[in-house]
Amino acid sequence: MNVAESTVIETRRKNVNAQFSVLGSYYSKSINAQSNDMSSKFDDMAEEIANVFLNRIQIIDRSFNIVSDTYQINKGKLCISSDVNKCFNGNNQAYADKKNKCLVLTQAIKSPDSQDISYVMFATSSIADIYTAMDSIRLVVAAVVIILVVVLLGFAFFASYRMVKPFRKIEETIEHIGKGGTAERINLSGSSEIETISNSFNMMLDRINQLEESRQEFVSNVSHELKTPITSMKVLAESLVGQQGVPEELYQEFMGDIIGELDRENLIISDLLTLVKMDRTGLEMNISQVNINDLIEAQLRLLRPLAAEKNIELVFESYRPIIAEVDETKFSMCISNLVGNAIKYNNNDGWVHVSLNADATYFYVKVQDNGFGIPEDSLEHIFDRFYRVDKARDRATGGTGLGLAITRSIVTAHYGTIKVFSEVDAGSTFTMQIPLTHVPE
Ligand code: ADP
Repeated sequence: MNVAESTVIETRRKNVNAQFSVLGSYYSKSINAQSNDMSSKFDDMAEEIANVFLNRIQIIDRSFNIVSDTYQINKGKLCISSDVNKCFNGNNQAYADKKNKCLVLTQAIKSPDSQDISYVMFATSSIADIYTAMDSIRLVVAAVVIILVVVLLGFAFFASYRMVKPFRKIEETIEHIGKGGTAERINLSGSSEIETISNSFNMMLDRINQLEESRQEFVSNVSHELKTPITSMKVLAESLVGQQGVPEELYQEFMGDIIGELDRENLIISDLLTLVKMDRTGLEMNISQVNINDLIEAQLRLLRPLAAEKNIELVFESYRPIIAEVDETKFSMCISNLVGNAIKYNNNDGWVHVSLNADATYFYVKVQDNGFGIPEDSLEHIFDRFYRVDKARDRATGGTGLGLAITRSIVTAHYGTIKVFSEVDAGSTFTMQIPLTHVPE
C-alpha cells in the first residue's frame, strides 16, 4: 500500500510540476512583454490553473515580497520560506509534504535580459484526496486480509487435523506394539504420501510379525533339536540301568551310542553359537587379503578322507590365482559346509567338482555334485535354520540343518550372494559370488 501511495503521489507530482513549468515559462514571457506590469494578466491565468490543479500560486520578488497570490490573501506581504530562499539560490523544489498533505513546488523566473532570478513562483497543491483514497483502500485491504487470514487459519487447522489423523493411528499402533501387543496391519487412506507411508508401515509390521514367527520357530526348533539327543541318551542309559548283568559288548555299544549323541549335541550347540555370533557380530569381520586358491585347497585336504570313505572323486579346478579380501576363518567354513554337504548328500562312487574363477569385481566358487539333489519345493527352504529335506536320512548323515544358514550369513557378511540349482537324483550346484574387495555394493 505504501509503495502504491508513493507511486500515485509521484505521478501527481510530475503532472502538477509539468503544468507549473508551463506557467513558469509563461510568466517569464510576460515579464519580457509587459516589463514590470505583469500581475493582472498573469493573475487570471494562474488562478485558472490553480483552480484546476488545486494549487495556490504565489509570486515572490527578490525582496521576498509577495507580488501575486491566487488566494489574494498574502499579496503585498513578506514571504519567509526556506523553499523560496533555496529557489533564489538556483534550486527548484518539487516535493510531497506528507505532514501537510500537499505538494510544494518552486520555480525560478529569470529576467530575459540579465538571466538573473527576478521572481520565484511558489505553489502548493493539495494531495489530501490521494491520502483519503489510500486510507479507504487500506481499510478494505485490511478487512480482506483479516478475512483471508481467518479463512486460511481455519483451512490450515482443518488440513493439519486431517493430515495428523493417520499419524495418530500409526502412533497408537506403535504404542500398542511397544506394550507387547500384536502388530496388526493398518489401513489408511488419504493422499498418496499417506498411502505410501501406510504401505511401508504395513511392510514393516509384516517383517516384525515374520521375525517374531521365525524367532518362535527358532526357539522351538532349538529346543527340539537339543532335546532329541538327550532323549536318546536317556533311553540308552535307562535300558542299561534297568537290566541286570548287562553283557560287556552291549554296554560298550550303548555307551558308544551315548557318546555319539553327545557329539551330536555338541555339534548342534557349536553350530548354534556360530550362527548366533554371525547374527550378532555380522559386521565384526576379520578381513584380510587371502589367497582363495590356497584356502580352498586346504579345506579340500581336510575333507578328502570323508570323500574317500564313499569313494567320491573330489576335484578342484582353478582358472586363475585369486587374492581377495575375506574373513579367512568364516569363509573357510562356507567352503567346508558346501563341499561337506556335496559329499554327505552323495552316492558312493560319486563326484564333487569345485571350481574357482573371477572377473574384475567378483570371484566365483562353484561346488557341483552328482548326488541326491534337492526337490524343487525344498530349494527355497534349504537356507532356513534347521531345515532338512529328508529329516530321518539327513539326521543320520550327521547334519544339524544349520550349515547352509551359517553359509548364507557368512556370504551376506561378505556382501556376496549364494545360489543353488538342483535336480533330484542328478545333483546340485551351489554358486557363491563374492566381491574381491570388501566394500558394500
Ligand atoms: P545339514 O547340517 O543338515 O547338512 P544344511 O543347512 O547344510 O544342513 O543343509 C540343509 C539341507 O539341505 C540338508 O539337510 C540337505 O537335505 C539339503 N542339502 C544341502 N546340500 C545338499 C546337496 N549338495 N545335495 C543335496 N541336498 C543338500
